[in-house]
Amino acid sequence: MSKGSIFIISAPSGTGKTTILKEIMLFAPNLAFSVSHTTREPRGREQNGIDYHFVNIKEFTRMRDKGEFLEWARVHDNFYGTSRTAVEKQLAQGLDVFLDIDIQGMKQIKKQLGAPVTIFIAPPSWEEQERRLRQRGTDSPETIALRLANGRREMAFADLYDYLLINDTVDQAVEMLRAIILARRSRTRRSAAGLALDLPAADPV
Ligand code: ADP
Ligand code: 5GP
Repeated sequence: MSKGSIFIISAPSGTGKTTILKEIMLFAPNLAFSVSHTTREPRGREQNGIDYHFVNIKEFTRMRDKGEFLEWARVHDNFYGTSRTAVEKQLAQGLDVFLDIDIQGMKQIKKQLGAPVTIFIAPPSWEEQERRLRQRGTDSPETIALRLANGRREMAFADLYDYLLINDTVDQAVEMLRAIILARRSRTRRSAAGLALDLPAADPV
C-alpha cells in the first residue's frame, strides 16, 4: 500500500476552513483529518476527540516536552499541536491526512516532512470574513477583534502556499479542493484503488 500524503490547510479565522473540511471528508474517501490538541475552550458544538483534543496547559506542556507533537504553535493566545503518532499511523494506512494548522505549523511540517500539499483559503472580502465570524456566534467581541487583526497578517503569507482557494461558496471551494486532491493523487501515480474520489480518472499524460 502506498503511503498517504499530507495536505495542509491554513486560513484566517472565520474564512470557512472547518466547514469546507467537513464537506470534503463526506465526499472523498481515503482522507483523514488530524485532530489537533489545543488549550482553548471548546466553542459551539465542538466535541472532544472529534474537533480537537481539549487539554489543559499542563498536559499540553507535558506532551510538547516529550516530543509528542509533530509541530506546535501559539495562535490567538492559545496553544495548538499536531500529534506525531496519530498522523504517522494515518499515513502508514495509506490515508491522505488533512492538517488544519496555521502558518507557523506549516513551516515546521515542511522542514520535517518534505513536500506536503499546502493550501491557503481566503475569504472573498474582509467584510464577509467579519460577517462570518459574527454570524458563527461562538466568540466574544474581543476574540473576534483579535482573530480579524491576525487574519490580515496571515493573508500576507498566502504566497508561501502551493494553492490559493477563495471560499466564496462552499460548493465551489469543495470542488476546487477535490481537484487539488485528485491532482496530487495522480502525480504520485497511486493505484486505481487509491483513487477513491468519485471523480473521473485523470487523463493519461
Ligand atoms: P474557520 O474554521 O475558518 O474559522 P468556519 O468553518 O467555522 O471557519 O466558518 C465560519 C462561519 O462562516 C460559519 O458560521 C460557517 O457556517 C460560515 N461559512 C463558511 N463558509 C461559508 C461560505 N462559503 N458562505 C457563507 N458562510 C460560510
Ligand atoms: P480555531 O481556534 O479557530 O479552531 O483555530 C485557530 C487557529 O489555530 C487556526 O489558524 C488553525 O488553523 C490553527 N490550528 C489549529 N490546530 C493547530 C495545530 O495543531 N497546529 C497549529 N500550528 N495551528 C493549529
